[in-house]
Amino acid sequence: MNFKRLFFLILTFVVAISFIYLSSSIKNISMISALVTIGTENTDYNLLVKNMSKDPSVGEETKIKIFIGPYKDLRLSSGRLEYDGDTYYIFIDSSFYNSINPDEKEVLIAHEMGHISHRFTKIDKLKFWFWRIFTESASAKYKEELIETGYQISADDFAAKHISPEATINLLNKLYPSEDGRKSMDYKVRMLNLATLPKEALQKH
Ligand SMILES: [Zn+2]
Repeated sequence: MNFKRLFFLILTFVVAISFIYLSSSIKNISMISALVTIGTENTDYNLLVKNMSKDPSVGEETKIKIFIGPYKDLRLSSGRLEYDGDTYYIFIDSSFYNSINPDEKEVLIAHEMGHISHRFTKIDKLKFWFWRIFTESASAKYKEELIETGYQISADDFAAKHISPEATINLLNKLYPSEDGRKSMDYKVRMLNLATLPKEALQKH
């Protein structure tokens, strides 16, 4: 391969990656504004959010807004964290929210806040792309699940520390009500983590 060809190949690659990066940011911002429109802003947890923001993994300057709406109808999860480059949005499904008790509601919010420090970054997404292209798809999917569960664990730890491990366990059981769901790696590993959390991990700052 001559240098000219190599140069164009690299250029094409860089342009493609930039395009993917830019279009995914635009898509994300338009999705956030759609989810904001569908839901209602909830300010009941402002004090709790403010207190939990003191955790160095979040930061007091971080802007966080909570919206509750029929997000499961859109096939979204019970709770979801999005970032538009300025503010973090916690989107909570209204039917799930109405089915849980006050402690579990706080855990749900704390869990989503826990995702602020450990988020699925664009770099992670790129890594998965390459795994999918260059490795056998089953093993790529497994790696993706493993990393995703790792993120869930750190968010659970944050919730256990700021609310309580018991309420975090209760919420996890409500997120996985079926026997089939409880056979998943995500449920088993997260439950094991919560059941064996060391005392030091629960010390508030
Ligand atoms: Zn989560």
